[in-house]
Amino acid sequence: MGVSEHFAYPSFRQGQKEFAERVYNACVRGETLIAEAMSGFGKTAAVLAGAVTAAEETGCKVVYACRTKRQIYRVVEEAARLQTKHPFKAASLLSKYDYCLLRKHRTIPQESFGWYCTFNTSNNLCSYFLNVSLTEGFGRLVERALTRIPIHQELVRESEMVHVCPYEVAKVAMAEATLALVPYQYAFDPRASRAVFDQSSTDRGHTILVVDEAHNLRDFYRGLGSATLSLEQVAGAEREAQAMLMADAAKSISALRISLGQIISGHTGWQLDRAAVLEKLRSDHGTAWLQNLAFELNASSGAAWGSVVYGRKLPSLVLRVGDFLAKLSSSSASILVKWDDCLGLVDPDPVRVTSAHLRAFKSSILVSATVNPSSAFARSVGLEPGAFETYQTPATPLTAVKTAVDTGTSTRYKLRTPEMYSKISCRIAAVINSTMSGVGVFAPSYSVLGPIFEMVSKKISGRNLVCEAPGLSNDQATDLFDSFRSSDDSVLFGVQGGRFSEGEDFEGGAMGSIIVVGLAVPPPSPMMYAEYAFMKRAGIQDSYLVLSRLPALRKAFQAAGRHVRNPGKKGLVFFLDERFGNSAARELMPSWLKKDMTVGDLSPSTIQTLSFGFWSGG
Ligand code: SF4
Repeated sequence: MGVSEHFAYPSFRQGQKEFAERVYNACVRGETLIAEAMSGFGKTAAVLAGAVTAAEETGCKVVYACRTKRQIYRVVEEAARLQTKHPFKAASLLSKYDYCLLRKHRTIPQESFGWYCTFNTSNNLCSYFLNVSLTEGFGRLVERALTRIPIHQELVRESEMVHVCPYEVAKVAMAEATLALVPYQYAFDPRASRAVFDQSSTDRGHTILVVDEAHNLRDFYRGLGSATLSLEQVAGAEREAQAMLMADAAKSISALRISLGQIISGHTGWQLDRAAVLEKLRSDHGTAWLQNLAFELNASSGAAWGSVVYGRKLPSLVLRVGDFLAKLSSSSASILVKWDDCLGLVDPDPVRVTSAHLRAFKSSILVSATVNPSSAFARSVGLEPGAFETYQTPATPLTAVKTAVDTGTSTRYKLRTPEMYSKISCRIAAVINSTMSGVGVFAPSYSVLGPIFEMVSKKISGRNLVCEAPGLSNDQATDLFDSFRSSDDSVLFGVQGGRFSEGEDFEGGAMGSIIVVGLAVPPPSPMMYAEYAFMKRAGIQDSYLVLSRLPALRKAFQAAGRHVRNPGKKGLVFFLDERFGNSAARELMPSWLKKDMTVGDLSPSTIQTLSFGFWSGG
């Protein structure tokens, strides 16, 4: 059977079959393939067709890694659709926290959840876990889940009815599945990936790895190798330890706070000598003090009964301090930095292990809508020249997208004044008032999003405005998305690089116009200085492009592509920031955004004229 039999839809769109075949060939030949497929191309169905065909033919498994849970939900829908045409086993695995039935009526911080689950299972306090080996319903649930991959809520609901832990159902299903859909953690974090590979005897050499939205890999690795700790958090951990009756630990944390305070105030530069800091802690407190404290805080065994029996808050700050100390004493590649009352551990070369990591798999397919330029993309995710192949899907006939770049606004830090926000809000209101369908507004950060949303809300009436907030749970995000879809002309405010600006499907005409506000260039920080300093030492010339400009532009272009869900769909894209008008940014812009472009100081009345003209076909 070829890719056509593994394609979920009756026919291919232009370029999809070639893409599916290219993916299939890469998988069979064992290549690392960087593939660019623009938004709305239908890349997921094509990649699944190619990868699943190759997996069945070679007896391999496909691990499909996505950055966010909402992206996994989309792939789950595609996989379920494919299962109705071609039966095969598929499963998805999220984190235990997402599945836990025991925490349903308790507030458990995510950071301390691992400890909470381990404590309950090892002390036989979780009946959902105990039931896994006792009830016959468990096996039936796994079989059913494999035959038709369920959406997350469905699996949780069915597991609750049988009274078993949904995570255990998903984990066993995942081990047996030909296609496993997982978040990045399970593919790249050595601690989490044990559940997908070692514990389920899945051999990487017989696994095809698909990395969705692969331009996020560097950020992901950076997060894995970094940790921060403020003196305020250390003081909070001390209070938590006292409340948990961990008297010795509280005393040690207090001593640690004093030592760290002296270290921070005793240095003027942003970089600290990690070895000298460790030496000071040893000479202040004894040779094994730090390791012992890190172990004690991470285990927090003394706090277990207190929190479970008396329903106390779990000690998340204690665990955070323990985690930081463990990394401080063990990760020799990390650089120690400081700012204000904070310490940071940063790996200055977060992607040095990527090549070796990807080579361990039979084949790796890295997919993104924003690969250009591919050499900088490859460098940003740690791939050496010659270690990968590239493929670009043929351009789809998107003739109906108009782009307008406003050079009269900017979100550069020094220009973030109330006047500028007011100017930006007037332009956004002009777009909304001249667009009859839905509108997406994507800001560079929550600190810009908040005031803009407030100002625009006062200028618009009769439209459903919804706004993303930091730290939304999955259920809250679903509610917000449902609210957006509840009317045809809703306006969604989100952040670039957030859960709604990448990998989210806005089907049909749900979004007519997109407004990208500002460029999400990461703010300068000691964590960034460490990466810049490393690249400079390594003789890498284009460090600003790789570390700052490209990631920011990619976030903007990803957001701009949210309304393009199928070829030929009409859409308007506004970039409100003069930096999008310069030649460097325009050179890196995807071709579909450059086909019909207007650049200039776009007043609200100009925007209205342009917008009405576009939508009326003028
Ligand atoms: S075993 Fe499952 S239900 Fe029990 S505590 Fe862990 S995640 Fe929650």
